[in-house]
Amino acid sequence: MRYSNIHTHTVFSDGRYTPEENVLEAIKRNMISIGFSDHSYTEFDLRFGIRPQNTAAYVREIRRLQKKYKDDLEIYLGLELDGFSKLENRELYDYIIGDCHYIKIGDEYFTVDDSGQEQQQVIDRYFGGNPLGYAKAYFDVYTQKTIENKPDILGHFDLVAKFGLMDEESSAYRNMAAEALISCLEITPFIEVNTGPVCRRVRKVPYPTDFILKEILAHGGKVVLSSDSHETENMEFYFDKTVQLLKSVGFKSIVQLHKGEFEEIEI
Ligand SMILES: [Zn+2]
Ligand SMILES: [Zn+2]
Repeated sequence: MRYSNIHTHTVFSDGRYTPEENVLEAIKRNMISIGFSDHSYTEFDLRFGIRPQNTAAYVREIRRLQKKYKDDLEIYLGLELDGFSKLENRELYDYIIGDCHYIKIGDEYFTVDDSGQEQQQVIDRYFGGNPLGYAKAYFDVYTQKTIENKPDILGHFDLVAKFGLMDEESSAYRNMAAEALISCLEITPFIEVNTGPVCRRVRKVPYPTDFILKEILAHGGKVVLSSDSHETENMEFYFDKTVQLLKSVGFKSIVQLHKGEFEEIEI
């Protein structure tokens, strides 16, 4: 099947290739569409986001490519919005992916996705060694920022489980994740199934994990495939296998950006 990938990174944030190199790759692969979603700017962590002075150039470049390649590929301009970024000039973008890469304790921000070691240190220091307290801090901020920012797509929903420190089998964790999910799906039904962690070999399965996929299905959520690619070669990474996984969970369709709309495609 022909795919779309709406979660891609370029040199404007922490990706390795230019937008145009990504476009050429997507054309080569005969994709339906591609969406750029470089990281939003966070003033307390300068490693990832588009610098404010580069936002205009990012927007200009993607709009230029849209025109240049209009006969070959649908191209969309998005933003991966961290919950702690300020969402300015939303009208510049075709869509927003809402994500949460940090939890905040007091005045300090702690990254959720840097390393298992860092997660464990925060769990020990602030949550008495209980990962569930950490998970609650994560899902609370994810939900709150989703309600505040109203993104179009929910991004890597269970990033908190990236390093295997959560007890994903426990009903306490599952109920917590499900409750957050239901609140977020009230804001938008669109949620990404993100193969990035499989690509980066930190997990064997995409985000979110299968019990959450079942909850998405049960609550009328619609899944959007993405690879969160930082390299052009990973544009459609693990997509075929993920479609099989979704079918095995019971999904009959996925959603793709096509002609400016989220279009449901049978799988
Ligand atoms: Zn992310
Ligand atoms: Zn990303």
